[in-house]
Amino acid sequence: MAQNRSFKPRRPIKKVTDSNKSVEEIIRELKAASQNTNSNYRQQSLQIHGLICAKCGREFDEKNKNQLTVHHKDGNHNNNPQDGSNWENLCAYCHDDEHTRGLLGDYIAGK
Ligand SMILES: [Zn+2]
Ligand SMILES: [Zn+2]
Repeated sequence: MAQNRSFKPRRPIKKVTDSNKSVEEIIRELKAASQNTNSNYRQQSLQIHGLICAKCGREFDEKNKNQLTVHHKDGNHNNNPQDGSNWENLCAYCHDDEHTRGLLGDYIAGK
């Protein structure tokens, strides 16, 4: 008995890399984007300075750390040095106080 081999046309294998971006490039972009997010610098500041208000010394834990906020010493939210030198962990009350007192200065500085 003669076997009829079905003739399958060969399909060209599709290349997986359909983007012109290299993986390294994409990772670099993702990292850069994540470094600009609020949650990221907040997390870093809490790690560096600890769960404690820099002003009144009130301590926080995992449960209420959402009440601890990150203040930018120079008032520039885009200035986020990785060593945490522009960050200060303040409880909501002290943070409010800090900004209320600094309001005139910020106004004059044009912020
Ligand atoms: Zn405080
Ligand atoms: Zn602030």
